[in-house]
Amino acid sequence: MDIYVEPIEEEQLKPLFTDPKQLGFGSIFTDRMFTMKYSKDKGWHDAKIEKYKPFSLDPAACVLHYSQEIFEGLKAYLSEDGKVLMFRPEQNARRMNRSAKRLCMPEIPEEYFLQGMKELVLMERRWIPDAPGTSLYIRPTLLGVEPFLGVNPSAEYLFYIILSPVGPYFKAGFNPVSIYVEDKLVRAVVGGVGDVKTGGNYAASLMAGLKAQEKGFSQVLWLDAKEQRYIEEVGAMNIFFVYQDKLVTPPLTGSILPGITRASIIEMARDLGYQVEESPITIDEAIEGITEGRIKEVFGSGTAAVISPVGSLYYKDKNYVVNNNEVGQITRTLYNGLVDIQYGRAEDKYGWVHVLGRK
Ligand SMILES: *Cc1c(COP(=O)(O)O)cnc(C)c1O
Repeated sequence: MDIYVEPIEEEQLKPLFTDPKQLGFGSIFTDRMFTMKYSKDKGWHDAKIEKYKPFSLDPAACVLHYSQEIFEGLKAYLSEDGKVLMFRPEQNARRMNRSAKRLCMPEIPEEYFLQGMKELVLMERRWIPDAPGTSLYIRPTLLGVEPFLGVNPSAEYLFYIILSPVGPYFKAGFNPVSIYVEDKLVRAVVGGVGDVKTGGNYAASLMAGLKAQEKGFSQVLWLDAKEQRYIEEVGAMNIFFVYQDKLVTPPLTGSILPGITRASIIEMARDLGYQVEESPITIDEAIEGITEGRIKEVFGSGTAAVISPVGSLYYKDKNYVVNNNEVGQITRTLYNGLVDIQYGRAEDKYGWVHVLGRK
């Protein structure tokens, strides 16, 4: 694929912003973005790395009315010896195409996805922060942009990738989060699009998120839509329950997003000698296990936090504390194991890390 690179004058570049104390999540963007178009007759065309700027869409564009949109989320990391690394980006390319299929959008050849992303990240390498725990967040997005109000898959698409330097997820150290178990609103149903990374799932989740925040909780734990009994996932994270010698995480039955962090944890935990079960777990079983001390640790998994320890679950007006609200040993071991691979500090025997170049 030929990528046209739009020249940018030195004086047009933004002031660099990589101070870890001021970096939050997803509010600062780099100088450039990757864009590529699709139309029925031309296929994918017009691949460009251009200046980051607002683009114009027709007010009748399909995405603005019928939400034909999918996205991905991953990170580029800087190793201590100055290498630019990415973690399993081919998995994001693959998941993006599974999402595309479900929403009747054209698939993006994996090599285009990876090439566009890697060239953009390398060109923007000065934006990759180097303080501990920081990284460059990457957001590939695909939109249906045909101006047409009929309900049909769009005939035209815009694919773009933007980059955002992000601070450490755990500002006050690796601390447990408190979770609100939602027992009325639902996120996704089997047969719907809960297993696809599409904005609509997030729109549907906002109200429960607000409710949880108002009550002082940082995340929502979703239950299955049919019976409100089976645990599904946390906002933008999958969830794991740690028993004495085994990890349990809900199976991918169609309403849960198949996390790449989840898959990596399952593989790494098995390698470390833990038994891992992908099996249904009800909220009652979880609470009983926590109360009786059989469930020792609970954690969420996703690209943003990698692993987020859970300190308590609040369900039907009662709070259940996990492991004294402390980070458990297995949670910590898996977190360190994964993060060390991502930042190039540990040997990557899995072949998960892509080396893009040097900063
Ligand atoms: C992205 C996402 C996750 C986590 O997936 P990772 O690939 O591990 O980052 C979990 N749940 C939802 C709803 C998501 O959108």
